[in-house]
Amino acid sequence: MKLWYLGTGSSDAIPNPFCECPTCEEARKKKGRNIRTRFQVMIDERLLIDWNADSFMRFQHANVCLARGPHSILFTHSHDDHLYEREFENIIEGYCETKPEDRKPYEIYVGESGYRMFDSWMTSLGKAAEGKYQLHLVHPYDNFEVEGYRITAFPADHDPLSSPFNYLIEDGKTSLLLLHDTGYPKEEVWEKWSKRKTPFGCVSLDCNFEWMKGKRNGHMCLEVDEEVVKRMRSLGLVDDKTTLVLSHFGHCAMSKEAFSYEGMVKRAEPLGFITSFDGMKIEF
Ligand SMILES: [Zn+2]
Ligand SMILES: [Zn+2]
Ligand SMILES: [Zn+2]
Repeated sequence: MKLWYLGTGSSDAIPNPFCECPTCEEARKKKGRNIRTRFQVMIDERLLIDWNADSFMRFQHANVCLARGPHSILFTHSHDDHLYEREFENIIEGYCETKPEDRKPYEIYVGESGYRMFDSWMTSLGKAAEGKYQLHLVHPYDNFEVEGYRITAFPADHDPLSSPFNYLIEDGKTSLLLLHDTGYPKEEVWEKWSKRKTPFGCVSLDCNFEWMKGKRNGHMCLEVDEEVVKRMRSLGLVDDKTTLVLSHFGHCAMSKEAFSYEGMVKRAEPLGFITSFDGMKIEF
């Protein structure tokens, strides 16, 4: 499975254009891997996870034409750094020259809150949007197939009003568990995972609070990521072959110490974690 990190920042990205905290100032100076746009990943060029206000520009830079694929998108939840439904007006008649008969409708998988947002926006666009997209409502623990992948939606520890999910994506050979926009996973979820017989191929963990301490609700920090991996290892869900990646980094404006890509690599690499950056591609 190929995993492409298109965006690796939190909701206000790094640097936040309004902010002068040590992290944002350092990112302005160092640039490169210290510049982080809002979170989004692509799997095998067949499946997209999330869509935010940074997506359009990054597809232009990466020369991606979505009329040719991916044709399906899974939304983790409805916060606007993960779901920007208004951008989908660009697939409607009059804006997009690719006719519905030339390709199947865009397949959109989303929890209840995002479903309502999408439905009300796309319906407001009228006839021009008809046949251009297909909305699928995702419930906790749903297990379904998209683009040949088996997907399981686990409820995340995140704002419940955003209908948050942590997706497990399996292709028959390997598996990817996306733990983004979640705190320490819920006990009911651990119970389901503990019945699993095989380790995950890759676990991508939320590290919104980097090296701050004790952040375990809504988002996580490196210390809590370590705790998650330790428990997974004890249950046989992680082994020496599992790829462990950290992503969704915040600028932590409340911290006096600047967070940087280089600083994170120094701390995370000895613990077995890859520090993601915008544009990073991995295979497992
Ligand atoms: Zn987020
Ligand atoms: Zn800042
Ligand atoms: Zn969120």
